[in-house]
Amino acid sequence: MSHDGATKKDNPNFNGAGNSNGNRNVSNGVAVYPSYASHRLRLNPSVDHKSDNYDDLQLDFSPLLFSSLERYLPPALLNSSTRDQKVNYMREILLRYFPEGERVRVQKHREYRQKIVSNYQPLHRELYTLHAANFFVPSFLKAVSENTEESYRNIMCEPSPGVFTFEMLQPRFCEMMLAEVENFERWVRETKFRIMRPNTMNKFGAVLDDFGLENMLEKLMEDFIRPISRVFFSDVGGSTLDSHHGFVVEYGMDRDVDLGFHVDDSEVTLNVCLGKQFCGGELFLRGVRCEKHVNSETQPEELFDYSHAPGRAVLHRGRHRHGARATTSGQRINFLLWCRSSVFREIRKHHKDASSWCAECQREKKERQRQAVAATKLELLKRGETAI
Ligand SMILES: [Zn+2]
Repeated sequence: MSHDGATKKDNPNFNGAGNSNGNRNVSNGVAVYPSYASHRLRLNPSVDHKSDNYDDLQLDFSPLLFSSLERYLPPALLNSSTRDQKVNYMREILLRYFPEGERVRVQKHREYRQKIVSNYQPLHRELYTLHAANFFVPSFLKAVSENTEESYRNIMCEPSPGVFTFEMLQPRFCEMMLAEVENFERWVRETKFRIMRPNTMNKFGAVLDDFGLENMLEKLMEDFIRPISRVFFSDVGGSTLDSHHGFVVEYGMDRDVDLGFHVDDSEVTLNVCLGKQFCGGELFLRGVRCEKHVNSETQPEELFDYSHAPGRAVLHRGRHRHGARATTSGQRINFLLWCRSSVFREIRKHHKDASSWCAECQREKKERQRQAVAATKLELLKRGETAI
């Protein structure tokens, strides 16, 4: 087994930025927040209310968050206030929950994306809106339109528990995406723009969401990956996936060579090879583990190695431990979509007990049950002997 040390939690590198306290007043090491105790939301939303649109405002929270929160405003405010008044009210509430460092980071990242999108000229505009019939192979489209476990099983292999592989992308789409990424990287070189890499582990590759593909990828997650995940990964929030991180990674002699053993910062990971010609670069998977058991031993039945083929996808839980072997010749480029569920993450914060999806938690649970049964048997046996 090719463990090289402890498993690493893979995070997008922009997470490291901006954890300072900013301009907030700090006294004796304690942050002082303004108090708006009178600002409250209603318990039940006003279901018939049509929310305002906040897209045009420069806000430190997502405009969508304001639109969905608006229905929870007190009726008096909802009926008689201007949009600005509503924004201020909701903002005061949100500020209590969202640390300033995080807001600064989100704002900086939004500006970074804006700078790229307003300067970069896309090569293939047709990639920026999802055209299912042009992107996906017919078998995949048919399975998703039927949307049953059977329809998915018909096109998928499950060579190891929780690892699904299937034909997904058309060769023409793969070629266009490769050309688009090359075009973007050429622009980065020519303009000397400092880009953020996809995560802490890959030195090469690019974040697709950063140069305009965010909406297309969101739709890909919502209309294609979430329905599949609802069937196969409901135990890790598969039916409530609500955000994504989409990027490409590049392997080869003058790129990243391999990737250490790790878990993803995702609930469900889609990994599709785009090309080109290469040798090596196998994906090795080693069982699903929770935070507590991430470094526990691999069971023989969990050992699985997979060889990438262009257009073919692998879908697995983010907590499925894995890595990539060295790409020994040629160039390999893979498209990754990390899909996340904020509902699942919120629930996990408060429930740290045994996970149904962690193989080690389940093994421990079975062992406890076995011991309990053995102890009961022994007790009954003893009682029997005393009775005689
Ligand atoms: Zn566990």
